[in-house]
Order: sequence, then C-alpha cells, then structure tokens
Amino acid sequence: MPEWLALYYREPLELTHGEGRHVWDAEGRRYLDFFGGILTTMTAHALPEVTKAVSEQAGRILHTSTLYLDRHMVELAERIATLSGIPDARVFFTTSGTEANDAALLLATTYRRSNQILAMRNSYHGRSFSTVGITGNAGWSPTSLSPLQTLFVQGGVRDAGPYAALSDAEFTDACVEDLEDMLAQTHGNVAALIAEPVQGVGGFTSAPDGLFAAFREVLDRHGILWISDEVQTGWGRTGEHFWGWQAHAASGPPDMLTFAKGIGNGMSIGGVVARAEVMNCLGANSISTFGGSPVTMAAGLANLNYLLEHDLQGNARRVGGLLIERLRATAARLPVVREVRGRGLMIGIELVAADGSPSPEAASLALEHAREQGLLIGKGGRHGNTLRIAPPLSLNIAEAEEGTAALEAALTQVQNTIG
Ligand code: PLP
Repeated sequence: MPEWLALYYREPLELTHGEGRHVWDAEGRRYLDFFGGILTTMTAHALPEVTKAVSEQAGRILHTSTLYLDRHMVELAERIATLSGIPDARVFFTTSGTEANDAALLLATTYRRSNQILAMRNSYHGRSFSTVGITGNAGWSPTSLSPLQTLFVQGGVRDAGPYAALSDAEFTDACVEDLEDMLAQTHGNVAALIAEPVQGVGGFTSAPDGLFAAFREVLDRHGILWISDEVQTGWGRTGEHFWGWQAHAASGPPDMLTFAKGIGNGMSIGGVVARAEVMNCLGANSISTFGGSPVTMAAGLANLNYLLEHDLQGNARRVGGLLIERLRATAARLPVVREVRGRGLMIGIELVAADGSPSPEAASLALEHAREQGLLIGKGGRHGNTLRIAPPLSLNIAEAEEGTAALEAALTQVQNTIG
C-alpha cells in the first residue's frame, strides 16, 4: 500500500466499479455493499439517473461558486428547505458533513455570542478542529484543545453503570436531570446543543424517542439552540421518518439541521438548514468556493427525486425491518453477538467476548471474514465493537438475504475463533 497516503485501513480494497448494491475490486471480485460506501451511496451505485445528471452538467459548466446562481442549486435548496420542517428555512451548501457542522457552530456561537456548546457523550461530528471538540467518542477525538467549551451530556449510551437498567422513560428523566444539572453549573450562555438522533460512528445507538422533546423544553427556557446532526440519519434511512429528529416530533423541528453523506449519492454535498434570523449571522462567510458546485447539485437533485419517487424510505422500513429480524434470529445462536439494534437500514451488531466484555477484536475479525464472504460492512461503537450495516436504501429482499447468509458465515467463524 502507498505509504504516502493517510489511510484508515492498512490493506484497503481497491474498488473499480459498482452497480446497484454491488461493487467490484481490481481483481474482479464482486461484493455486496452493506455499508453504502460510507452511508454515501444512498440510492444505488451507478444509478443511471444520477450518472446522466452528472455527465450532462459536466458537459455544460463544471463550476460557478456561490457567487452565482445555478438552477440545480436553487431547486435543491428549495426542496431541502421545505422538507426540513424548519419554518422560514434557509440552506447553505458545503462540501462535507464536517464543514456543515462547522457552519452550524459558527452560526450558533455568533447568534448567541457564546462559545459554549452542549454535545452528547459518544457523539461524532467530524474531523475539523472545532468538530473534534464536540465529538464525545474518545477514539475519534484526538485533541482536547478545542476552541469551543464543550459540555457533554448523557443521551445515547446506556450500556454502562446505573443507566443500563433504566426504562426509556426513566432514562429520559435521568438525561434531562443531567442536562439541567450541567446548565446549573455553567456560567453565561450556552449557544447550542448538537446531537445525532441515532449515533452513527458511535455504533447506531438511538436516543429514546421523545428525548429531544424533553431536552427542548429545558433548552427553550435558556434560549439555547438545538442542532440536529442528520448527516447519517437524514433522507429516510431510519425507515420510520425522513429525518431522525422526527422520532422526537412533539418537540417540533430543530433550530438547525446539518446534512451530508447520502444526498449526493457519492458526490460531495453537505449543508446546514437554519431559520432565517440565525442564517443571517453568516454574513461574509456565506461563500464557499466548492459548496453548491453545479455538478454535485445536479446529482443531489436527481438523487432526491429518485429517492422520493421510489419511496426508498418505505423500502428502508420494510427491508430494514426484515433484515433486523433475520439478524436477530442469527444472533440468538451466537453468544458473540450481544445485541442487534437499529432503525430502518441503519443496523448495529454489537460483539462481545466470552466473558461479556466489549470485543473490538471480534469486530475486526468479523470485517475480514465478511469480506472473504463477499460482503462489505463497517464498524464503530463506543468500544469499536459494533458492526455497522447501512446499505443503499434500494436494497431488495434477495440481497438482504444474501447479506444475512454472508454475515452468519462470518460471525460463525468469529464465534469459533474467539470461543
Ligand atoms: N456528522 C456525523 C453524524 C457523521 O457521521 C459524520 C461522518 O461520519 C460527520 C458529521 C462528518 O462528515 P464528513 O466525513 O462528510 O466530514
């Protein structure tokens, strides 16, 4: 492998092309992509509608910048603003989720004149200097020298200590108490609370339904903004809802939401949606050289149209539900699996050693064995011991079964190795 490249895996696969839910490597081997790129290939690989939109736009003009208007950018912004549920919404396009969250932090801190941010334990929000500062998952947050003052609150993780035994309602009460306590200890204003409705890198761990409605009441009393990081949970991936925040619907929409990953089906689109009075704080910062680039906007629009016309959210609910059921049946036979959890096509499989302790080794082994079986998956979690399943939302039942069989074989091998 080239040593001059900073890579995540030591021996990554070299991929040459994809089609539908499958990709091929340089040796011609075919894999079922159960991680949708990295939750980026939201509809399908080489989707003809997106390819056509990209090539037509590439033949017209590659780049205009946010100094000028592009038809696709205007239309996509209007669609996202309407879909967001945020009243009087404005959209600002970036090129990644990190940058989207950076923009949201810039807006919140400027609007509230405060550099204090509330974030969740075990969260992940990006790899820039400011977003690692609001990332609670220690494995992903290499520095504590953040320009922000971050206060981490409880909300997603409940596998440890006294929280583990609580019901959803009791856990929600405990989290609200934790939040109130945190606010009582702060001096001055807190700008915003940022949270993933389902923690992604954190291992597909859901906040209990309604948690953010309960938080919202407290936040509103202090004028604190709520930012929903929908980078992984947006566009119907969770099946039941188009946005993750909608599982907390009593709270109404957040003040801001951030998006990225799947909307471009692999093209780099990120962005933030905010109420107009908040977005107006961007001022001269409302320029991004590559944010909203016409080729990406054309891809985003074609992808969004496809997603809505083919009800891929409904497909995520149906096929995801079936997949969870099958995986739970498999897991019941394998003590190495502690839990199968998730919503729609966002499914986590948590692995443990024989003594019940988290096993990142088992997760690494499972990734290798799955690859041998022709299946690509991801991993993450608080201890790096959770397999992450997030295929393109067009996954069909035959492919769900193909993936389950490959996973069963891979996990059986893991079980036999670690005992
Ligand atoms: N927010 C969440 C919830 C994410 O999962 C990620 C990436 O995994 C990001 C932000 C950062 O997005 P990007 O990698 O596009 O910068």
